[in-house]
Amino acid sequence: MIAPKKQALDPRFVRLDASTVCQLKCPSCPTATGATGQKLGVGSLKFEDFKKFIHRNPQVSHVELSNWGEVFLNPDLVKILAYAYRRNVCLYVANGANMNHVRGDVPEALVKYKLRRITCSIDGAGQETYARYRIQGDFNRVVENIKAINRWKAKYHSPYPQLKWQFVAFGHNEHEIARAREMAEALDMSFFLKLSWGDLYDLPDFSPVRNKELVGKETGLGVSSRKEYLAKYGRDYVEHTCCWDLWNAPQINYDGRMLGCPINYWGDYGNVFDDGLDACLNGEKMEYARDMLMGKRAAKEGIPCTTCKVYDRVKKDRSWITEKDVEKVYRPGRRYILFENKILGERGAIRLVAFISRMKESFRQIRNTLKRGRWDIRLRADASVLSDQSHPLSLPLPLDEDKKWKPYFLFRGPTKAIRDFSCHVSVLVNGCSPHPPHAHKEEEILIMLSGEADLLLPLYPGDNGQGRLPLKPGECVYYPPEYPHTLQAVGSAPANYLMLRWYAPNPKQDSDGHGFGKYNLYDSLARDEGKEEFSTRTLFEGPSQCLTRLQCHTSVLPRGAGYAPHADAYDVAIVVLEGEVETLGKRLASHSVIFYPAGQRHGMFNPGNVPAKYVVFEFQK
Ligand code: SF4
Repeated sequence: MIAPKKQALDPRFVRLDASTVCQLKCPSCPTATGATGQKLGVGSLKFEDFKKFIHRNPQVSHVELSNWGEVFLNPDLVKILAYAYRRNVCLYVANGANMNHVRGDVPEALVKYKLRRITCSIDGAGQETYARYRIQGDFNRVVENIKAINRWKAKYHSPYPQLKWQFVAFGHNEHEIARAREMAEALDMSFFLKLSWGDLYDLPDFSPVRNKELVGKETGLGVSSRKEYLAKYGRDYVEHTCCWDLWNAPQINYDGRMLGCPINYWGDYGNVFDDGLDACLNGEKMEYARDMLMGKRAAKEGIPCTTCKVYDRVKKDRSWITEKDVEKVYRPGRRYILFENKILGERGAIRLVAFISRMKESFRQIRNTLKRGRWDIRLRADASVLSDQSHPLSLPLPLDEDKKWKPYFLFRGPTKAIRDFSCHVSVLVNGCSPHPPHAHKEEEILIMLSGEADLLLPLYPGDNGQGRLPLKPGECVYYPPEYPHTLQAVGSAPANYLMLRWYAPNPKQDSDGHGFGKYNLYDSLARDEGKEEFSTRTLFEGPSQCLTRLQCHTSVLPRGAGYAPHADAYDVAIVVLEGEVETLGKRLASHSVIFYPAGQRHGMFNPGNVPAKYVVFEFQK
């Protein structure tokens, strides 16, 4: 038995491999060579084991089912899906599935029990190319299975499972990337071009990319292999992404063996089904591995990472994992999933959480006011800080005909560095202002989302000397503290706009910081139009009165491109302007608002078929 330690990790997300069996013979896969089978066994997760695991670990609310084998070969899959749904646990097949054999009752069960996502591995746009790597695979059968899922999605009016077409780039299939992209779109799938990773397991370099320029462009990374990725970005394609799972998303074999990460198949950290998740995860051996990856302890025989190529690289470059890298990631618990799946739907659940946050905030303010006898925002030292979050927005915002102006708060609270940070969107009727010109100690950014307005700025002479400045969609302004301002909607449609507002005391007052400024986000994005790789363009950067650095830039993320999870040392707010991004486990369309607090790991991916364009604000204290 492995003894648990104090301050134990208890992630809500685990990876529990539904199967190590696979019917294909892909040349770069250790499952196909038999290497994983020798170590892990060849078998499938049993329903009874899954049931016990879910019962014994009530904190687990998200389970990834795919890794070494083909999920759809698990004979108990429908029972697993139904039970997870009943117990309010979200399931994913996001690592990958070949989908060559999907039993008749499975497509409906995937939709009915709301499996969240499937990544389908299809490295070609036709049978001949596909079967060069997916040996023994049947391209047409895969497409038929996807169509069957889509039929059930239409019948249940469900967005789940979201489907992703993952295409590993090789020399023999690179000419079919564009065609595969089109087919993915027709099948309502996102498309992701992945670099081959055979070299990770010392397998022969199968069909290396020939047209490096094309693949570099299509991945959006500017590289065509993992070696080039390492040379360009100074880190391994999977470095830190997989090791991070030892803290936040541990991998478990179908028979309960704790493997830690999805790369390791040659050693384990005990058996979760026998010893318990807590004991394995917080046992001495796994704690030693985590310390090794942080550079705190030397490599040791018997620890799986010791013989891993990724660890060799981390050690050589001393690119150790840091505490910040592995800070706990927020994931909703089973109660939230109950509301999302069975009561309110996804949007309703988000609104409920926003409503509860607003109520909490209102009660907190009332309590403060009563205590202090004045309306002043002073947050308790132990108040919980804002977590990472995303808010899809649907425009135009609903109007309040009586009040002519209606704000919708998205979030508000302190961050580690900023005493008070908030974001709201508002709708304003033509000819109206939300308030007379006012000034306050907070700094603000306003982005016009739709409609038009005139800024009314008593300190701004403007062309006509009236302090009026027109604001169109895609334009934004920065208000420094104590700068008098308001706005008035003009034009036939109501103005919809977004505000970011923050305050952090700056005892030094050593900088005047930014002055008032107006910026055109679409003009900035237009300068990167047509670029095939990830691009950013800074609009402004420098100290402000509350911050040591306030930065704003626009970004264009090509379709199918993304970046690996990382943590920033500052708070970040993002507003999607065009296309779609996938982050924090959600697919977010235009006008969505994303917030990453400092130190919070986050990655981003463009799952859509057009470039994703967004504006980023960085707040550094
Ligand atoms: S070093 Fe290798 S085995 Fe260890 S966690 Fe990282 S990827 Fe997994």
